[in-house]
Amino acid sequence: MEKLALLGGTPTITDPAPADLFAWPIITDEDEAAALEVIRANKFSGTDITAKFQDEFAAWQGRKYAIAFTNGTMSLSAAMFAIGLGAGDEIICPTKTYWGSVSQAINFRATAVFCNINEMLSIDPDDLERCITPRTKAIVIVHYFAYPADMDRIMEIAKRHNLAVIEDVSHAQGGLYKGKKLGTFGDVAAMSMMSQKSFAAGELGMLVTDDRRIYERAMAYGHYERNNANYITECDDLVPYYHIALGGVKGRANQLCTALARVQLKHYDERCAEIRRAMNYFWDKLEGQPGIRAIRVDESTGSNMAGWYCPHGAYHPEELHGLPVSRFCEAIRAEGFPSWDGGNFCLHTHRFFKDFDFFNEGVPSRIVANDRDVRVDDERCRPSEERYCFSAPWFKHFNKEWIDRYADMFRKVIENHEQLLDADKNAAQGGRWYGTDNA
Ligand SMILES: *Cc1c(COP(=O)(O)O)cnc(C)c1O
Repeated sequence: MEKLALLGGTPTITDPAPADLFAWPIITDEDEAAALEVIRANKFSGTDITAKFQDEFAAWQGRKYAIAFTNGTMSLSAAMFAIGLGAGDEIICPTKTYWGSVSQAINFRATAVFCNINEMLSIDPDDLERCITPRTKAIVIVHYFAYPADMDRIMEIAKRHNLAVIEDVSHAQGGLYKGKKLGTFGDVAAMSMMSQKSFAAGELGMLVTDDRRIYERAMAYGHYERNNANYITECDDLVPYYHIALGGVKGRANQLCTALARVQLKHYDERCAEIRRAMNYFWDKLEGQPGIRAIRVDESTGSNMAGWYCPHGAYHPEELHGLPVSRFCEAIRAEGFPSWDGGNFCLHTHRFFKDFDFFNEGVPSRIVANDRDVRVDDERCRPSEERYCFSAPWFKHFNKEWIDRYADMFRKVIENHEQLLDADKNAAQGGRWYGTDNA
């Protein structure tokens, strides 16, 4: 029996890991040259570099149209406008995600309806069916922590109920579901390319679609005419208005970011493949250990984990004598890796979705235009039903020796977990509101 570091034993890892093992994004001379070119030419607000990136990204994504935005939140807002979200509409979203997936609904006087998640922290199709009412307009699908959502079932449900599907691909750019690229299932996909995401290019967002009308509406939302004076060919109804950004917000990307993104795109698939090789090796080493399961897909099905953004494992306390996940993570941290439990807090537990009065109407804005109080439905995804999970190292390179050491750390805590059983078994799972800032 090895003494756990949390109880005074020797930590598994105290020496620093090689700098490139976790560093992300990978920045080379090529990125620096691209950024310098923008700075020297003073091209921050132009659109020529962005236009090139949009074309390259659309081709890579396998979609007809791509629009760059200031950030992912803005691209998702544009997607909501593009599908025609409006007053009184309901928009379904998994409760465990970053707020940028759905809180914008408030601006449209629409309301978020929260859907439960399954063990893979992915939207639960059974619960999705239960969330649908005559008021439902759209579903936001999040490929959370890079795990591809069950698109076969989701698209079948969406078609049957005539609902628009917005894919939030912020965690899973380039990933596959049964051989088809994530971001090509819904009517429209939008995503963050913020510096810590899988596809990382500073502060940037992208929207992709095959639908010309959605493209034109998304453009009109935050890119007034200067982006491309001739883009309206179908939405005649927008012609009298589109000289002004119709969302009252400006969403044009900074070209320092789109220049970086062009370089990142060239290398992205290859870097993701290396990450998947490393991450699969790590989880293979831990296969069969009690208490934990990898959150990953079987690649033989044609699906994959993209750039494996923010790797997490599912946690089963019942297999470890009820050891709370928070205590498990504490022990891992003491061994030398900053593991945290919970992922994003469930959105429906935040007061923003309970009683925030954005419109100064003396009414919670979430339900201001609704003929029913959707907040009662939040009970369906009670925090107690939050799935237990913990964060794992996000390896960027297949460095066997180091991956072995990290896997040993998890094995050590599991094998010796009985040393920790004095912990309060009722301890709640933690979480955070701002994504994860650990590795
Ligand atoms: C980060 C993120 C967003 C928002 O993107 P920003 O670029 O930070 O505005 C939206 N959805 C998800 C799931 C995210 O992780």
